[in-house]
Amino acid sequence: MSIQSNLQHIKSTLPSNVTLVAVSKTKPVSDLMEAYEAGQRIFGENKIQEMTEKWELMPKDIQWHMIGHVQTNKVKYMAEYVNLIHGVDSLKLLQEIDKQAQKHNRVIDCLLQIYIAEEETKFGLDENELQELISSEAFKQMKNIKVIGLMGMATFTDNQDQIKKEFTHLKAIFEKVKPLSTFNFQLSTLSMGMSGDYHLAIACGSTMVRIGSSIFGIR
Ligand SMILES: *Cc1c(COP(=O)(O)O)cnc(C)c1O
Repeated sequence: MSIQSNLQHIKSTLPSNVTLVAVSKTKPVSDLMEAYEAGQRIFGENKIQEMTEKWELMPKDIQWHMIGHVQTNKVKYMAEYVNLIHGVDSLKLLQEIDKQAQKHNRVIDCLLQIYIAEEETKFGLDENELQELISSEAFKQMKNIKVIGLMGMATFTDNQDQIKKEFTHLKAIFEKVKPLSTFNFQLSTLSMGMSGDYHLAIACGSTMVRIGSSIFGIR
């Protein structure tokens, strides 16, 4: 199977309200260009340095999504161009993104990562921490970030019931906080679902899927 045919197949199965992020981490620019030639414009990377190298080399109409865990001291390297940061999990990180966005005179869209899995290795806020963050004075003062949604990763398991339970939980949190809308908190995007579980994620309300290996092959 080619990257082009993988992409076409996946796109043909996605509802029109679901956005596809092609997760290209560890893959060479030639692979990304193949996806680009096939019409793909949104790419997801999990390392800032790798994403920046690819951004420099590739066409400028690509939207770059940071899907990995972000270290505060590295935000500055992507602040000029990043389109959406999926893994925001603290006020401190949000404040740094706000500060760096201000330097570039822009507003950076972010998703807050919510912890839904039963795995210690995964990151994210729980529901209380989310409520606390968005109701804080510090959050209300940030003008150069905009939280446009939530992101979550289900437990790595074959147990479909468990994955479904975790996605449904995230969708419920999403619906609960959505009405709290302010100028910098306007939820439209629910980023959940990867190669192994995106059909289930969509059935549970996902509007953005992050798919890597089903497009580019195993890493
Ligand atoms: C790598 C990665 C993906 C894509 O995983 P695949 O199983 O290859 O589709 C999605 N989301 C995040 C956060 C990732 O790190």
